[in-house]
Amino acid sequence: MDSFTLDIRTLNFIIILFSCIYSAGFLLYQRSQKKISGLGLFALSLLFIGIGPLVLSFRGTTSNWLSIIIANAIIMLGFQLVLHSLCLFRKSSLKYTYFTYACYPLSISLFYYYSHIVPSIKARVIVISVFVAISTIITAIATLNGKQKDLKIAVWMMSSSLFLYGTFMVFRATWSALSEEIHNFMYAGLLHQLTFLFSILLVVAMSFSMLWMINARLVRSIREVSRRDPLTQLYNRHALERVLPRILVESHKAMSLSIIMTDIDNFKSINDKHGHLVGDKALIRVAKVINTVTRPCHFVFRFGGDEILIILPNSHLEEANILAESLRKSIFTCGLVDNIELPLTSSFGVASLRDGESWESLVSRADQALYHAKELGRNTVVTSPQHMEPRKIHQVAPCDKAIS
Ligand code: GH3
Ligand code: MG
Repeated sequence: MDSFTLDIRTLNFIIILFSCIYSAGFLLYQRSQKKISGLGLFALSLLFIGIGPLVLSFRGTTSNWLSIIIANAIIMLGFQLVLHSLCLFRKSSLKYTYFTYACYPLSISLFYYYSHIVPSIKARVIVISVFVAISTIITAIATLNGKQKDLKIAVWMMSSSLFLYGTFMVFRATWSALSEEIHNFMYAGLLHQLTFLFSILLVVAMSFSMLWMINARLVRSIREVSRRDPLTQLYNRHALERVLPRILVESHKAMSLSIIMTDIDNFKSINDKHGHLVGDKALIRVAKVINTVTRPCHFVFRFGGDEILIILPNSHLEEANILAESLRKSIFTCGLVDNIELPLTSSFGVASLRDGESWESLVSRADQALYHAKELGRNTVVTSPQHMEPRKIHQVAPCDKAIS
């Protein structure tokens, strides 16, 4: 095992360099971009993981107190902060940090004991290996169990690099416990040299995974913005084009799909009478009501202007009618916008996919039903018949005649 040797001083220098560069990079990123929970602390943890070995390298030229106890305390604090920062970043419970925070003063006391009272390099190696093993394995678990939606592969990379490092530290502690006392750490053997090499790999892997997760969050938010209508926050036509093929495939399997087309009544007159800003607020209010009344399995799109399309996958005509009627009532009773009592109502056209019918034909039937609802006096739900024969359109809900 000892025929192959690594230069600890060089490896130590690389740890300091990488940790400090990544730390500065993350701190600058945090300053210049939107704040990300846990990122500042993560940068600080890397700084400590870099400064610790720097102080350690003064061994022999400065006091043992500084080069042993303080240096190792800084390294352990660095690993502790990696845990804390990843709990914040991944929205994991901070309970994960309690145990290692409690172990921290104990580990420093043991360092004091094994450097000033019963000096033993071997015992100190065991103490730091056990502390780092516990904190990195807990960090791996906390990272995996976080509630924050992140790119799975990047989470796994972060978590598995921490777990592998922790496992190596368990091995190092066990090996050291079974070996003889170490007299000179610089020549203590390959296992201890590998610790420095693996620390470099950990710093690189953690930093890369962190950047990967941040990047994936940005990509997701850009995608989300591009699919939402900025005013109402409903999905837009672009989103409809993306999800429609999947919805149609699933609905052909389930043999049921219904849609509701709705349009605000006399919206132009609201704009004309109260101005476009009030009109905008009325539109937002209607969108909110629709979002509240519909279920998560329904898709709501701003189809254009004041027209909104609701898709109900795996739903029959009756379900769609019930939903349309309940939306009609909810919009009818939500009249107060910007402290102005508005005659806010909507009309509805409902249709269900017929056997072999195209999407375009379904939308056109819902549109025709909506048109009839307008003709019947507005604030009304009209259903397009499910079968071809009855060409006439049925009025389902009576018009409340609330508006002229
Ligand atoms: P109807 O009952 O027949 O639907 O009458 P209407 O006045 O609502 O007629 P229509 O649906 O054709 O009018 C839509 C109006 O909605 C026209 C347009 O000025 C207005 N509009 C479209 N988009 C917006 C928007 O984002 N904000 C505001 N304030 N108005 C909008
Ligand atoms: Mg309208």
